[in-house]
Amino acid sequence: MARFSDRDLGMHRKITRRDFLDGVAVGAAGLAAAAAFPGAAQAATPAAAGAAAGGPGSPQPPALTGLRGQQPGSFDVAHAVRDGRFEPGRVTDTGESYDLVVVGGGISGLAAAWFYRKAAGRKARILILDALDDFGGHARRNEFQVGRHLLLSNGGTVYMDTPSSWSPQALGLITQDLGVDLPRLLSTVHDDAYGRYGLRSATLFDQERWGRDLLVAREPGESWESYAARMPLGEASRAALVRLYTTKEDFYPGLTDAQKKEILARTPYESYLREKIGMDDDALAVMRRGTNGLWGVNVDRVASADAWAAGQPGFGGLGLEHTPWPGAGFTPLQILKETEQDGYFYFPDGNASIARLLVSRLVPHAFPGREPGWQDIPTARTRYDRLDHPGSTVRVRLSSTVFDVRNEGGGVSVSYSNGGRSLRVRAKGVVMACWNSVSSYVVPELPPEQVAAMRYGAKVPLVYARVALRDWRAFAHARVSRVSTPTMYWNSFGLPTVTGIGDFEMPHSPELPTVVSLSATPNQPGLTCREQHRAGRRALIRTPFEDFEREIRDAMTRALGEHGFDPGRDIAGITVNRWAHGYAYEYNSLDDPAIFEPEERRPYALARRPVGRIAIANSDSQAFAYTHSAIDAAYRAVEHLA
Ligand SMILES: Cc1cc2nc3c(=O)[nH]c(=O)nc-3n(C[C@H](O)[C@H](O)[C@H](O)COP(=O)(O)OP(=O)(O)OC[C@H]3O[C@@H](n4cnc5c(N)ncnc54)[C@H](O)[C@@H]3O)c2cc1C
Repeated sequence: MARFSDRDLGMHRKITRRDFLDGVAVGAAGLAAAAAFPGAAQAATPAAAGAAAGGPGSPQPPALTGLRGQQPGSFDVAHAVRDGRFEPGRVTDTGESYDLVVVGGGISGLAAAWFYRKAAGRKARILILDALDDFGGHARRNEFQVGRHLLLSNGGTVYMDTPSSWSPQALGLITQDLGVDLPRLLSTVHDDAYGRYGLRSATLFDQERWGRDLLVAREPGESWESYAARMPLGEASRAALVRLYTTKEDFYPGLTDAQKKEILARTPYESYLREKIGMDDDALAVMRRGTNGLWGVNVDRVASADAWAAGQPGFGGLGLEHTPWPGAGFTPLQILKETEQDGYFYFPDGNASIARLLVSRLVPHAFPGREPGWQDIPTARTRYDRLDHPGSTVRVRLSSTVFDVRNEGGGVSVSYSNGGRSLRVRAKGVVMACWNSVSSYVVPELPPEQVAAMRYGAKVPLVYARVALRDWRAFAHARVSRVSTPTMYWNSFGLPTVTGIGDFEMPHSPELPTVVSLSATPNQPGLTCREQHRAGRRALIRTPFEDFEREIRDAMTRALGEHGFDPGRDIAGITVNRWAHGYAYEYNSLDDPAIFEPEERRPYALARRPVGRIAIANSDSQAFAYTHSAIDAAYRAVEHLA
């Protein structure tokens, strides 16, 4: 609930409203353009809404503001198919025939096109279909132009996590095929960009939960005792928080490493925190969302073993060895074990740069001039009007929702909806790089047990908001770079990572513009993980842009208002990236008995069996929400077709 009136929050200011309407207007223009190209001829298909959105004179999709990510309207067809109320009308055969059709233009779909072409040769004809008006799936780019400054941000996928653990195929794609120099990429991040201003992290305690709005910052090197003493908590809650971060107690004396991990795997982290650390409701309220970034649920539904493996606090005295729990082969530690070579492999638009590099190599003329290198990609402009060009061997067709895929006549027919029309293309093979749940509805030949396996997981809903500011003097004045908001809608907000790659340099002095990032993970504590994700998704889909906007302005004003922040004056634009279907579902030892089974018996492994000439990719098919797992899934699917 907002403490300030809409007027105080600047909700009436024209700039944001205009940007938001632009987003809607361009989508509508896309549909209008599509409708203007009726019929089945090849020339009709490039008129997809996405092509129109990035056409000459219109903003590029990454520059659209308002509600983005899985944007309004993008799942209408898919939901109608799911609910059995989709009426395709007459399906027009476009006459197009491809070697490969890929359903889903995220990292997995783009990588599948890449691996296929690598195996089949440059003449292979490939069509990539995606329901959204931009390519990259979760790997999404946000752009703002504030005055003369180009501001970039990751609208979804942040960075390449732990490449030392990647498969040779994933690593080879990034470093050899796309030429990304990982050690040099690491050096483009300015680690100390805010340190020289003396900025700190802080927690905002809000009036509704804590009696008054209070921003408490932690000084560098400050002890937990001193930090907690300034929080609006009772003695016992403070002591528990201090204990959480400093404990050296072994709560399971006499047990072996494996026995301790066995207990932790079956104990919700919240139970551990209450029973072993002695945390009460107030102490828990301050840190209960610490697990959301990785799993989308609070401490109530994360296994203590996973919390420990991911570096959450409270396990300092257990003396656990950094090896996986032998009872389940599926902890983050096992798969993402950092080595000295690892670090923050971050592009200014996150892994959208990977998607853009792939498109630049797959689709001729998708970027002007010669193929951009990894250092050129942040400022390279995509020619959206060239993505689906009849003269290209590889084409990307946006705003196209696939509703039927079936083996037919020795090949596969793929039907999709674009701008209200139902169209069909044919292919020798298909890679389903969309989500498992979607495949379960659009591939009618799947046997019932495979359908059930595909619907087992529930993707994690997340929302990443990006707020362009004209300057960040208020942050400098408050001496904070990141504010945790543990009992408000957003989990936290903060200043961006500062990078300089090629001719892109993120501005980073207080009087210059910047992009603030906020994240939230809707869920419903008390349920299983999968039910929490489903409940969170329903809530997310119902939330209008205005509600997100109000919560953004409110949180920032409460924290920074007394340091000079004026939301009406300072905010230049807002993009809310809604990922209702976010992270792939990862199995856990509290909710998924299959975790104790060999991998081939787990639902996600059953779900990825090919059906005739239809192979299954996407990070869902790995049950692992990472860029490299999306690439691994692509490689496996292409091998299935071969
Ligand atoms: C907010 C967020 C942050 C993340 N951060 C990181 C990170 O820092 N590091 C990391 O390694 N991983 C991260 N991940 C996970 C990583 O982004 C994903 O694992 C990976 O990008 C998934 O790629 P994908 O191609 O498998 O799926 P997606 O990116 O979801 O692509 C699937 C595509 O299929 C399309 N589609 C769905 N249905 C249809 C249909 N019927 N017809 C046509 N198209 C359809 C969708 O529109 C979508 O574009 C993050 C994910 C999210 C959501």
